[in-house]
Amino acid sequence: MKGRVDYDRLREQFGTQVLGPELLAKLHQVAGADLHPLLTRGVYYSHRDLGPLLDGYANGKPFFVYSGRGPSGPLHTSHLVQFDLCAWLQRRLGVPMYIQITDDEKFWARSGLSREETRRWGLENLYDILALGFDPKRTHVFFDSRSIAALYPLAIRVARKIPYSTVKAVFGFEPSTNIGLVFFTALQSVPAFWPSWAEGRSIPCLIPCGIDQDPHFRLTRDIADGLGYPKPALIHTRMIPGLLGEAAMSTTANSSDNALFLNDPPKTVERKIHNAFTGGRATVEEQRRLGAVPEICSVWALWRTRFAESDSKFDEITRQCRSGELMCGDCKAQLLERVQAFYRQHEVARETAKTWAESAIVTEAPRPL
Ligand code: SF4
Repeated sequence: MKGRVDYDRLREQFGTQVLGPELLAKLHQVAGADLHPLLTRGVYYSHRDLGPLLDGYANGKPFFVYSGRGPSGPLHTSHLVQFDLCAWLQRRLGVPMYIQITDDEKFWARSGLSREETRRWGLENLYDILALGFDPKRTHVFFDSRSIAALYPLAIRVARKIPYSTVKAVFGFEPSTNIGLVFFTALQSVPAFWPSWAEGRSIPCLIPCGIDQDPHFRLTRDIADGLGYPKPALIHTRMIPGLLGEAAMSTTANSSDNALFLNDPPKTVERKIHNAFTGGRATVEEQRRLGAVPEICSVWALWRTRFAESDSKFDEITRQCRSGELMCGDCKAQLLERVQAFYRQHEVARETAKTWAESAIVTEAPRPL
């Protein structure tokens, strides 16, 4: 795999805590049901302050979940890792969900994208996210360009707490960076505090995000005290490797074949999985004799997310892969069936999501600041 990431080292470098068995047992206890596979399979592996958040919940102090999406194109399956956990937390714990669609940020960050495109992708991405099973009664969306009246009163206060030197250090801004991106730093932090501000009481926040996003939200945590709101807790995922063996399933990789997009037609999905980078050996004979290496395989990485229907199925694939009982072609064929079944079910759920997406968008501030 190209550019393999040492996730333990990254966690140590950022100074976050291990998401270990004790904390998972606590989450299991408050969820009152089996843990989400992304937790049991180690895709989420690090956190900040998750323990106190769960203790508070167990003692009657509810929290909310916040996550977001910068709409520059279609979602791909690695984006589901973040939102699948959010939807599970909402289902199990009944917590409110706040989603931020940053169509403004993508317009400022990508000179090749027009306003119409970021707005259109914002809506398309929102339908895909809501289709993952969010509850219309407990889900609120900040669609930045349309929710600015709701966000701005608090953004004013947040922006005053963030010195330019800090955002420059965290985001690596250059003298040529447009000033929209500078102010966006404040807008991205607002949802973490918005419910506390709106309801006039302290409501803790949990942010599921990629470990690479930790520095951004560390900034949000740093200003929380000064604003009089709780520091948001974080739970971090590893990145999902790309189909061509890149460290991440990124849309900015050289080829669109690196990612499985949710709007890929069935034939394209089939071709991409067929061509995916694996941890298999050069010949069938060698693989039978030596076994394959799942840890470097992009197909195994997909099984590890939502596509293995149970932990026992996932463990069995891993065992058969290592022992040489399973050949990559058969493994890919099985995965393709699972992925195509998900795409069919998602298409239906997406149509339902369209019927309530507009009503979830927050457009008014609860009160002036
Ligand atoms: Fe990957 Fe499956 Fe091949 Fe193992 S058998 S290396 S999991 S494709």
